[in-house]
Amino acid sequence: MLLVLVDHDRGTLDPLSTRALTAARTIDSDVQAVVIGVSGASVAAEVGKFGAKVLHVVNNPELTDYAPMASGRALIDLVDSLKPAAVFAAGSPRGNEQLAHLAAFKDLPMAAECTSVTLGNPHKVVRARWAGNLLEDANVHSDLLIASFMALAFEPEEVGGSAEVKEFTANLKPEDTIVKVIDRVGDSNTGGVTLADAKIIVSGGRGVGGPEGFGVIEELASLLGGAVGCSRVVTASGWRPHSEQVGQTGTKVAPELYLACGISGAMQHIAGMKNSKNIVAINTDPEATIFRYADYGIIGDLHQVLPKLIDAVKSAKGA
Ligand SMILES: Cc1cc2nc3c(=O)[nH]c(=O)nc-3n(C[C@H](O)[C@H](O)[C@H](O)COP(=O)(O)OP(=O)(O)OC[C@H]3O[C@@H](n4cnc5c(N)ncnc54)[C@H](O)[C@@H]3O)c2cc1C
Repeated sequence: MLLVLVDHDRGTLDPLSTRALTAARTIDSDVQAVVIGVSGASVAAEVGKFGAKVLHVVNNPELTDYAPMASGRALIDLVDSLKPAAVFAAGSPRGNEQLAHLAAFKDLPMAAECTSVTLGNPHKVVRARWAGNLLEDANVHSDLLIASFMALAFEPEEVGGSAEVKEFTANLKPEDTIVKVIDRVGDSNTGGVTLADAKIIVSGGRGVGGPEGFGVIEELASLLGGAVGCSRVVTASGWRPHSEQVGQTGTKVAPELYLACGISGAMQHIAGMKNSKNIVAINTDPEATIFRYADYGIIGDLHQVLPKLIDAVKSAKGA
């Protein structure tokens, strides 16, 4: 049996977890899920669709929001009683952090960002290193494999079904909840489409020229019902907030359409958007690296191209 730790944000299942469940199913059809700090009903319906036969709901009054060390501690007893062949999670920062705590408590290795896993003695994994530019073949020498998936490399695939909910009470020590979310501040409640969920992302780089240049990017994103993204140069310059940064040290995305405007295509940016289904690049430099990854390329000044694109979208919508 394989155990998949699924993550959530105040009860809403992280879509990356459905990809992790799909990835686990490619290894063994006997998949169970575990969720921490939320009532099971809504999550059970979701994970069941993605092939989990059982959802273990870990309860403890202290576990009401993200608390990575407490998650690691809570998983120990469950893992010891279920004895799965492997414990997986999505290779998100949160998934990796929780599994790393479990591995540290159990004094076992952990393999992060796997693109392929073969269980055995030793377990064989392929890991994405250097922002996905290097694939490493590695052997993991331990009975229990603890590993995260490079989740965007796996398309979520529903199989139907429902998960039986089993409650589990975690024994925590006071020091386990020393790190936990106690409040959220900032602009998380903009009401718009979030970068991670957006089907369309219009992204701007240094070529946009400055904060005011993002007017056209925002207008096109809004017309298409998408989200605004950007490169690190843009966030480092203070033109846009870090929540919009795409890449190795930003958000990793895989939308239907990624429109890269004035972005050169540095590997740290590519690491965050190369799984997009369709990539369109607008750049004045015909030699820009981004064109190597683009399905469609427009060589030109984004400040001339985007207004024409906006007009075309408006007229296609009959506006
Ligand atoms: C550890 C580390 C982590 C990093 N993490 C990230 C990350 O998460 N995300 C990220 O994006 N970067 C990241 N970077 C930075 C990355 O290496 C690049 O510096 C950055 O992506 C470049 O941003 P850019 O493409 O906007 O700028 P540039 O590389 O300067 O490219 C600007 C592009 O705009 C084009 N251009 C200029 N004017 C126009 C115009 N009018 N119309 C059309 N095109 C125009 C130019 O031809 C050029 O190709 C990281 C770097 C390090 C070292």
